[in-house]
Amino acid sequence: MPDKLSKRFASFAIAIPLYQLFDYAIEENDEARVGTRYRLPFARGYKTGILLSRQDSAGVQSHRIRPAQECLDVTPVLSDHLIALARWMADYYLQPPGEVLFQCLPGYLRGSKSEKPDRVKYWRATTLQPAVRENIQRRSPKQHQILLAIEAATDGLNAIQLKQINPGWAGLVRALETKQAIEWDWATPPASSHTGQKLPDLNTEQEQAYAAMKRRFDQFSVHLLDGITGSGKTEVYFRLIHDQLKQQRQVIYLVPEIGLTSQLVERVRQRFGEQFTLSHSAMTERQRYIAWDRFRRGDVSIMLGTRSSLFSQSDRLGLIVVDEEHDHSYRQDDGIRYHARDVAIKRAQMLGIPIVLGSATPSLESLHNCDREHYYRYRLSQRPTRFAPPEIELIDCRNMKLEYGCSSFLLRRLEHHLKHKGQVLLYLNRRGFAPVIMCHECGWQASCQHCDARLTLHQSLNRLLCHHCGFMQTPPGVCNECGNVDIKHYGIGTEQLEQGLKKHFPQYPVIRIDRDSIASRGAFARRLEILRQGEPCLLIGTQMIAKGHDYPAITLSAILDADQALFSASYRASESLVQTAFQVSGRSGRGDRQGEAYLQTSFPEHPLMQSLSHSSYAEIAGSITRERKMLGFPPWARVVMFRADALNLELAIEKLDAIKACLQASAARHQVKCIGPIPALMTRRIGRYRAQLCLISTDTRKLRVLLHEVMPNITAIKSSQSVKWVVDVDAFDL
Ligand code: ADP
Ligand code: ZN
Ligand code: ZN
Repeated sequence: MPDKLSKRFASFAIAIPLYQLFDYAIEENDEARVGTRYRLPFARGYKTGILLSRQDSAGVQSHRIRPAQECLDVTPVLSDHLIALARWMADYYLQPPGEVLFQCLPGYLRGSKSEKPDRVKYWRATTLQPAVRENIQRRSPKQHQILLAIEAATDGLNAIQLKQINPGWAGLVRALETKQAIEWDWATPPASSHTGQKLPDLNTEQEQAYAAMKRRFDQFSVHLLDGITGSGKTEVYFRLIHDQLKQQRQVIYLVPEIGLTSQLVERVRQRFGEQFTLSHSAMTERQRYIAWDRFRRGDVSIMLGTRSSLFSQSDRLGLIVVDEEHDHSYRQDDGIRYHARDVAIKRAQMLGIPIVLGSATPSLESLHNCDREHYYRYRLSQRPTRFAPPEIELIDCRNMKLEYGCSSFLLRRLEHHLKHKGQVLLYLNRRGFAPVIMCHECGWQASCQHCDARLTLHQSLNRLLCHHCGFMQTPPGVCNECGNVDIKHYGIGTEQLEQGLKKHFPQYPVIRIDRDSIASRGAFARRLEILRQGEPCLLIGTQMIAKGHDYPAITLSAILDADQALFSASYRASESLVQTAFQVSGRSGRGDRQGEAYLQTSFPEHPLMQSLSHSSYAEIAGSITRERKMLGFPPWARVVMFRADALNLELAIEKLDAIKACLQASAARHQVKCIGPIPALMTRRIGRYRAQLCLISTDTRKLRVLLHEVMPNITAIKSSQSVKWVVDVDAFDL
């Protein structure tokens, strides 16, 4: 009987780097549901798989099909919607589907751990027709008693509470459910969005942006809030979020590195009370799972988190916000490669909901999408406070002797600001004490044994450190090459800057923020506390201090060394420099005093430096975009990169040659440019040699067609186990 045989097989996704799904037999009466996890026999052991579909025949000869073992979940851990999103990702980013699906789960559920079975049902009252109510009151006093109790409880009542009212509660509740007088939900319903805090009035620009967005909020739409630093973007997000909560909808609010924006967390808490939960990389897997689960149940309405929070489950998602949308940390560059902003846009599209991107320095891609009228753009050009962000002033460092990286002019400005009770910020994107260790006699430089990289001196550790692989060694007393004892260090890192400034300004605290100085989140928070108090101090640091912070006492910000970007081999370098320059200068003058911003350079006449001091971000972004058009680079083109690494360069190149052979003919037919294979910029990294093969095309459609044609052949190439390869769709660099 065909009916009995039906749906005896199921396809599962397993987190292994193969581009396929796996079929298993399941019991006929198994109520197997899509999105639940199973324990599956695999090779000689077991693996966890996610059930994706059921069918009545298997892809492989049925006698070779093995039976799935037990189901690990009572309810699906991935909704149909997230499965569809993951499958889109696997297709778009050309990643193995199993790995992508598992990526969409909280780390805690990627293995075989079971969910904690402590879901609690809460019943709450519906709005009832007076006639129905009267009827209940008259006919069934016991039901009425339960109904009144449920109505009186703002958060609803659970089984334990109901039992205290009437031991026979279950039947009464069922009767009330049938009359649609009450309904249940997991956990407590979200509290109303009232938090007692009065919403500040929006200024005219904020109000206009808010109103214009809202007009398009009933459908999928992408909104770019392009507002200068401190213009009140966050306030606009808050208003939009507030509206969603009033409608009982949930919101995903993505930020770059939340551990580092504790100030934002505080603001969200003040505005939305306990209606939000957090998820970021400093939390344990279990903590993140709990946050994920609370959001899924609807205990909280806002998921505030980093990149992977995008995959939070919700059946009433109303809005996604991506703050600092230009930030590189939205790209995941190891394991499954994807861009959280772009996947968020896809998710919003699939759900038919709006998404808001915000930045003071929007990515060229997003600006380009506004130009092409794919996104709506709103500008906030003023700060609600009195003062505009400072213009960037160049400090000409040619032939100048610097003290710990600072020109004497800058030191005088620092002193002036500190004396007038200002806080000052110095940006130097190089941690450690000195980046170059060199023999004065023969020119030998200390370099890593495992990478094509120099070692950085970390004086506090008395070690030379590789920033790429973590390799460490004691600083040599004599030159490795010639035995000379005159070994010197060159260049300045944050550690040296800190030491110098402490000596120069002994009466003021110097706060250093970089990866070495803030081993713990606590240390970071304590340092920021000094800033919050508003006393004069010097803040120095790397990327971490460039974004997000809103400290009104900062009146001067300076970029110490930006010149490397002018000579970088990366075509993205100028874009990154401009974004950093505007972000760093924008930290200054947010309070009741006009700020100042400086950039030290030995190339003040370089066109990029000139434009930094004269033009707006939008103008510079426009001119970079025009340059890119001539080159046929993103945002006008899309880049797909095949990368391989092996124990020697020949093997890596050989692998890419084989890939190239698979795609060359199609590439020519579709007029897609194919560059390489060539050794990667840093060829040797962590002991492996790396090479790349790049596809670039201004015609996205052709590129996709090509990839779909050739990927099956590429994934079928046999090569030695020791060669690893990945494909990187929308690769950031060439
Ligand atoms: P952004 O997110 O654009 O950097 P914020 O939202 O952090 O800007 O706003 C900068 C400062 O201005 C904050 O201290 C904020 O409280 C304040 N602010 C924002 N909007 C208003 C407003 N409409 N009225 C008064 N102050 C505001
Ligand atoms: Zn030497
Ligand atoms: Zn190294």
